[in-house]
Amino acid sequence: MSSPVLLITGGSRGIGAATARLAAARGYRVAFTYLERSATADALVTEIEAAGGTAIALQADVAREDDVLRVFAEVDRRFGRLTALVNNAGILEPQMRLDQMDVRRWTRVLATNVIGAFVCAREAVLRMSTLHGGTGGAIVNVGSMASLIGGAREYIDYAASKGALDSMTVGLAREVATEGIRVNGVRPGPIHTEIHASGGEPNRIERLKHFIPMQRGGHVEEVASAILWLLSDEASYVTGALLDVSGGR
Ligand code: NDP
Repeated sequence: MSSPVLLITGGSRGIGAATARLAAARGYRVAFTYLERSATADALVTEIEAAGGTAIALQADVAREDDVLRVFAEVDRRFGRLTALVNNAGILEPQMRLDQMDVRRWTRVLATNVIGAFVCAREAVLRMSTLHGGTGGAIVNVGSMASLIGGAREYIDYAASKGALDSMTVGLAREVATEGIRVNGVRPGPIHTEIHASGGEPNRIERLKHFIPMQRGGHVEEVASAILWLLSDEASYVTGALLDVSGGR
């Protein structure tokens, strides 16, 4: 039997890269996308291959439907039938109040975090669903605890985009439950990655850690483990679940 095929969006850094490493170590053939840092993406492919794994990096902006269609076509061509999708690519913008934000910002955030994940989910279902001749698969959406907390004075738009993703996880899980596809979400709390610098506060976790019951930020590997479990057959009766990976926050 050929090894399973996993596509991770935004897999060149942070949580996506940790997921790519762990998945490759567990025998998946991994395709991941990146937005602009091709050297970082290429270095990860080299690292995975040096460890005996299989990976390809594909440039794509998930906010652009034509980019996503090209990525899925490339995965079809290089690896064959898709087994698993991790909707991980997500952005946030500089911290501010809602009354300081404009429509262009909201359009960027929602296009990437929501529409991008929807397009990827659609393309995955078209390939995995037994209704469309597929043999099943698993999808994990990377949400955020921000969907519950709301992002006040930082990024309500980002929090709302993750709320939309939670709803999609639950709805799609029910929609395709009899078609061989499980759909779940992870909701990380503050994790040590470069995303906090995008919000203008690289040391955000230092400020917040006292509000986290475990009194620390999470590590990317801790999120990757949860994602890989949800993708695995060990989670065969788990669908529509939102798994908080947040140190108790
Ligand atoms: P990072 O900012 O560390 O990495 C982002 C990754 O996504 C990079 O690979 C980047 O590519 C890629 N990317 C960015 N924009 C796009 C785009 N438009 N299309 C395709 N790829 C893109 O992010 P994290 O690892 O921190 O976050 C990953 C996910 O986890 C996100 O959905 C985030 O919202 C979520 N999350 C993160 C938390 C945290 O504290 N870190 C907490 C809760 C949720 P490139 O290298 O080319 O820029």
